[in-house]
Amino acid sequence: MTSATPQRQFRAVAAFQLIAAIAGGFSILVGVLVLIGWWRDIDALQTILPGLIAMIPNTAVACIAGGVSLVLATRAERSARLQLSSRWFAGVMTTLGVLFFFERVTGISLGIDLLLFGDAVRPTPWLPPGRPAINSTIVMIADGLALLLVNFRTRRGWRPAEALSTVGALIAFTAIVGYLYRVQGSYSFGVDETGMALLTGVTLCVLSVGILFVRPDQGVVSLITAADPSGTMVRRLIPASFIVPIGLGGLWLLARDLDLVSHEMGVSAFVGAVIVTFLLLVMRAAAVVRKTDAERDELLGRAEGARAVAERAADKTERLRRTAEALSTALTPMAVARAIVAEGLPALGASASEVAVLSADGVVLELTAVSGLPSEVADAWRRFPVTSRVPLADAIRTTDSVLLTSPADIARRYPDLAPVLDRVNVRAMIVMPMLVDGRPMGSLAFSFNGPRVFDDSDLTFTRALGQQCAQALERARLFAAEQSARADAEAANRAKTEFLAMMSHELRTPLNAIAGYTELLELGISGPVSDMQREQLGRIRRSQRHLLGIIEDLLDLSRLEHGAPADIEMGAVPVHDTLGNLEALIAPQLRARNLTYIYNPSDGDLIAYGNRARVEQIVLNLLSNAIKYTAPGGRVGLSSGVHAGRVEIRVSDTGHGIPREKLDSIFEPFTRLEMDLTRTTEGTGLGLAISRHLARAMVGDLTVRSEVARGSIFTLTLPAEAPEPVDRGLGVTPPASMIAVPEDSIPLHRVRM
Ligand code: ADP
Repeated sequence: MTSATPQRQFRAVAAFQLIAAIAGGFSILVGVLVLIGWWRDIDALQTILPGLIAMIPNTAVACIAGGVSLVLATRAERSARLQLSSRWFAGVMTTLGVLFFFERVTGISLGIDLLLFGDAVRPTPWLPPGRPAINSTIVMIADGLALLLVNFRTRRGWRPAEALSTVGALIAFTAIVGYLYRVQGSYSFGVDETGMALLTGVTLCVLSVGILFVRPDQGVVSLITAADPSGTMVRRLIPASFIVPIGLGGLWLLARDLDLVSHEMGVSAFVGAVIVTFLLLVMRAAAVVRKTDAERDELLGRAEGARAVAERAADKTERLRRTAEALSTALTPMAVARAIVAEGLPALGASASEVAVLSADGVVLELTAVSGLPSEVADAWRRFPVTSRVPLADAIRTTDSVLLTSPADIARRYPDLAPVLDRVNVRAMIVMPMLVDGRPMGSLAFSFNGPRVFDDSDLTFTRALGQQCAQALERARLFAAEQSARADAEAANRAKTEFLAMMSHELRTPLNAIAGYTELLELGISGPVSDMQREQLGRIRRSQRHLLGIIEDLLDLSRLEHGAPADIEMGAVPVHDTLGNLEALIAPQLRARNLTYIYNPSDGDLIAYGNRARVEQIVLNLLSNAIKYTAPGGRVGLSSGVHAGRVEIRVSDTGHGIPREKLDSIFEPFTRLEMDLTRTTEGTGLGLAISRHLARAMVGDLTVRSEVARGSIFTLTLPAEAPEPVDRGLGVTPPASMIAVPEDSIPLHRVRM
């Protein structure tokens, strides 16, 4: 059995199902009208169409039962109740058919023939009165069973309902044809007394066909409803297969009645006409198949074309992605241009490509990448003014694309250039400006060996490529600018360091001379020194020390700012050991300012990772600040501990504190707060800047918490163990030979007030 897949069904399957519903309705209508006709004794209703033979009431009842069952069956898919009702009516029809068939075959009356309108039926000429013809009973049984089995399928997919209703349709149709050709045997089934009425034949035929269409998407009927060429062909041929034989048969009978043809001649003419007509039908079917085939080929061709276009588009998208990827790492205009050429050429199927970059002053175009052109041509056009009458320059001046589709087009628009392009086999070109925010950065061109019409996708692709290229060029330009600015800054820094080194050397020599001579004078070697002179000599020495301290600080800072504290050797720093020694160094200042010092020693084994001398330098600086910026009678504290896996050294005071908004800036060099104590206290504003640089150079940090009028806590954080050897540009792993500050050399100048 052929069964079309649901997708290929004629879309209006519901419309075919309507045939079934209409057929059912028709059957009911005829049955009801006929019954009314018998009841009211109206001849016209018994025959429906004047001149036809009447349908007897029993047949009308069977037709109504069949019609109701059919109408319900079209809806039954959605409801089990409707399905049951449909089966019930089908059962009635089948039972009636079987009973009448039994009567006909056995001749035994079951007393049911005249149950309905018996008086009206009794006088009719058909015998026995009120009993349906045998062919009618067979159709009733066939259709009744078909309706009962309408949803049943065998395991191999057969639908018995189809076979049964086809049998019903054929018997009923044969009766109709019998009436048409006046062949009694066809409608009386060879029995003389009575036959199927024409109205019964029409009604049962319609009912049988209707049953075929209850499930239009299943079984053989699906061949008629199919949306593919087979369906089209079947739908076109079916009417012909009825009309042609019936029509020809009719003609033959007419000719015979008029004595126009002999019997033999009629038969041969009939055979000939049938052959010719069927040949024509076969030809027509072939033409239909050929046409649908051609349509399918065309559709296939179109689908193929669409797929090729989609594939090309996907290829271009992929190339744009790859270009973007390649461009993200291209840092020079040359690398940018090469990436563009490499991806653009194959995507467009071009034979040559050029990228021209506009000079910074916007006057000259420089060919940055060329592919597919002879080197002498590329060399001749290495640099050319933006005012030149060539496509690459035109695209920049007009900030629009230039499309040259054929040699004739080139010759018309660029007559001077045409011979050169002809010589290098360029027959078409697409040229795009490369713009960043509407500003031209250059242009790119793709050339082709043959004439070419550029479609939207070519334009979009080339434009996207141009945009990517422009942005990459802009990035490369910014990168180059940044590189040169960085080089300038580095050079300036080097000069500053050199200057500071030279200055410190130049200043230190006379300062040391001042210290030496002051000492000599103090010793009285050059003669006795009065008390007043001694006091003045003391001031000279303090000033000399202060100056020396400032110079040391400046040098330190300058070295640290360059991120090259190469003299810091990292190692284990025993915290308690280191901090415990500091009290002796600050004791005089503490006494002088009447401050209480509280040292809160950590666990004796606490080890930090850093440089001991630098740690001492930082803590000493913090302690001297705490002393400087705390009013007499206050407290200065030093403590240590471990927090979050890192060693913390805290210096606290009960001094005047630091306003919240200044907490960051005090770490900037030369920053001193405008406060009474600051004004009266010596200082350069370099100590904290140097300390934080040092702390960070040791992979630690220096932070502060403070509250105005209550005091401050400075916290130096250091690693508790050696960090992973990551090069952070801090140079924390210098060779031992580079250590400039011996472990035990505490820079005394920092303990100054
Ligand atoms: P200096 O002490 O030589 O001025 P620093 O860099 O050590 O330079 O300190 C910068 C500024 O931070 C100081 O001038 C002072 O105003 C403020 N400061 C530093 N430590 C404290 C502190 N413990 N209490 C209050 N202010 C402080």
